Amino acid sequence: MAKRLSKLKVLVVEDGKVALKAISGYIEELGVHPLLAENGRDAIDIYNRERPDIVLLDIILPDTDGYEVAKEIRRLQGKDEWTAIIFLSVMSKDEDLVRGIEVGGDDYIMKPVGSVVVQAKVRAMYRLVQMQRALVKLAGQLNDANLELQRLSMMDGLTGIANRRMFDMSLAREWRRCMRLRKPLSVVMLDVDYFKKYNDRYGHQEGDDCLKAVAQAVQHSAPRPGDLVARYGGEEFVMILSDTDEVGANWVANRIRQQVSALNLLHADAAHGHVTVSCGVSSVIPSQELTVEMLVKSADNALYLSKNQGRNTVTFLNYGQI
Ligand code: GH3
Ligand code: MG
Ligand code: MG
Ligand code: MG
Repeated sequence: MAKRLSKLKVLVVEDGKVALKAISGYIEELGVHPLLAENGRDAIDIYNRERPDIVLLDIILPDTDGYEVAKEIRRLQGKDEWTAIIFLSVMSKDEDLVRGIEVGGDDYIMKPVGSVVVQAKVRAMYRLVQMQRALVKLAGQLNDANLELQRLSMMDGLTGIANRRMFDMSLAREWRRCMRLRKPLSVVMLDVDYFKKYNDRYGHQEGDDCLKAVAQAVQHSAPRPGDLVARYGGEEFVMILSDTDEVGANWVANRIRQQVSALNLLHADAAHGHVTVSCGVSSVIPSQELTVEMLVKSADNALYLSKNQGRNTVTFLNYGQI
């Protein structure tokens, strides 16, 4: 006997007892126990319960017709589901066939049916069902891979926090949001002090570990879930504080500075004997005449002043101040 299709679910909808018996016999020869219905309502009930792979569907039924049943099946079918529908009919006009395809049928068998044709068509539909399943699976995997790729493209590989790209996107979004709500937006720029010397003394690997620890400390200093901490580049980090004014941003920046200092990472060549950061803060209520770039520039200018004032300190500059 030819290959058995035991995992297949086949529903036969046929009100003629003789035909029903014959067709289910042919299906059984394929190694499949078919589900049976003798009217449209039972067919839909079974479809809902069992979600068969293939439906052999008589056109003339006692309560409704096969076209209506096919339409209902297509309506009930989920986005990733597909059931093959093969119509069974003595009607042999071309229009009948066309109508069957139009309401969602996939094939047509003329009655009286013979085993060879039924089995061949069931096999052919089984192949299509398998292909459709493989496609759905593949589409799911592709979607997962895309989401992961999207996540990775926003993340810094070393520290695991947001990267510059994510920062740019978030800042543009928060700028617009704060402009709409007339709320202040603050940016904190921070830079590890004497980091070149840290690398020189302890090596690049230790330097990387230091950056990871600093990133975590900064991340944990973010007061609200909406605040974004990102690696701006090298040993520089940045924080976006929405709906936060000068006072709030200075407070957060000081907390970051303290938290990094509290890590107590040995740095023999630094002024304080351990790793510290300098911070620059700027704040503005965004408006059409102002630019987000100037807000970042102002925070950067403030950072520069912190470096000049001996490091491990926080400086605030108003928008546009140098
Ligand atoms: P300052 O106190 O003025 O900030 O001095 P600095 O030495 O920290 O600043 P400088 O810009 O001279 O040096 C930054 C160093 O950071 C140089 C570079 O090798 C190091 N660096 C940048 N990115 C990485 C990284 O991903 N890993 C490691 N280990 N080092 C990095
Ligand atoms: Mg009938
Ligand atoms: Mg730097
Ligand atoms: Mg530095």
